[in-house]
Amino acid sequence: MEFSPKDKAAILIEALPYIQEFYGKTIVIKYGGNAMINDDLKEKVIEDITLMKYVGMRPVIVHGGGPDITEFLHKVGKESKFVSGLRVTDAETVQIAEMVLVGKINTEIVSLLNNRGIRAVGLSGKDANLIRARKKLATVHENGKVSQVDIGYVGEVEKINVDILNDLLDQDYIPVIAPIGSGKDRESYNINADYVAAEVAGALNAEKLLLLTDIEGIYGDYHDKSTFISTLTQSEAKAMIKDGTIAGGMIPKVEACLCALAAGAGKTHIIDGRLDHSLILEVFTSQGIGTEVIK
Ligand code: ADP
Ligand code: MG
Repeated sequence: MEFSPKDKAAILIEALPYIQEFYGKTIVIKYGGNAMINDDLKEKVIEDITLMKYVGMRPVIVHGGGPDITEFLHKVGKESKFVSGLRVTDAETVQIAEMVLVGKINTEIVSLLNNRGIRAVGLSGKDANLIRARKKLATVHENGKVSQVDIGYVGEVEKINVDILNDLLDQDYIPVIAPIGSGKDRESYNINADYVAAEVAGALNAEKLLLLTDIEGIYGDYHDKSTFISTLTQSEAKAMIKDGTIAGGMIPKVEACLCALAAGAGKTHIIDGRLDHSLILEVFTSQGIGTEVIK
């Protein structure tokens, strides 16, 4: 499709209210799923974040790395097992997760952004004590019963050192965070990146938390596309987790939205990272996309 110069001007002007609304505001982006694997989509996400930065927003990126971690574990002969969407993580697995997240994925995102003229800085939860973590037990909902299961070095956020993030943001850097936390005995914890993004959004009082994933958003029945839900309230979300309608990897995502809202983030959205420029669509247009979880 070709646009005339007049159309192009109109499109830019249409974005003006959103640019004004979010100028100087903090937007936390959880980067994961296909948008992180597919090279084309990757470039588009990087472009979107670059645009957000250059129109005056303060983006913060938290990335996942599930598929890469699974691939590396497979290479060393370890298969991955998940409980309630969380990876069962023994001592060797957490070491591999840390190497992949911090050494490979984080540095790649940082260099892609730097290549666009952005000043991105990579951090793991260990840098400047960014993420203090403790063990997290997995909550299993089965046959109407709830139980807690030990799944190893899987952590939850105890405390975010928000000062380092604000210092970087004030100096015009984009923090890029790998979801590895440090325990009280310096042990590493692998933390689901959705939770890290939520805690970061809460601690920074972010305007928005955007969780990129590989599905359109939340479905009432995820095998039936006609059950798509564009807005979900906190109490509806809780009920859907309890009755198993929201399952697997969608559980941490929805819990992340609830946690960010409770901690003071403005709005939370689960959006489809398979769509070209989904971040721009969500932030700069009135339609919005994906599922919004609200108070
Ligand atoms: P990511 O890599 O983005 O963290 P996950 O695979 O961890 O993605 O989580 C998203 C997945 O959650 C979806 O692909 C889907 O299979 C699953 N899911 C479970 N329940 C739902 C639901 N009610 N609506 C949408 N997706 C759901
Ligand atoms: Mg996930």
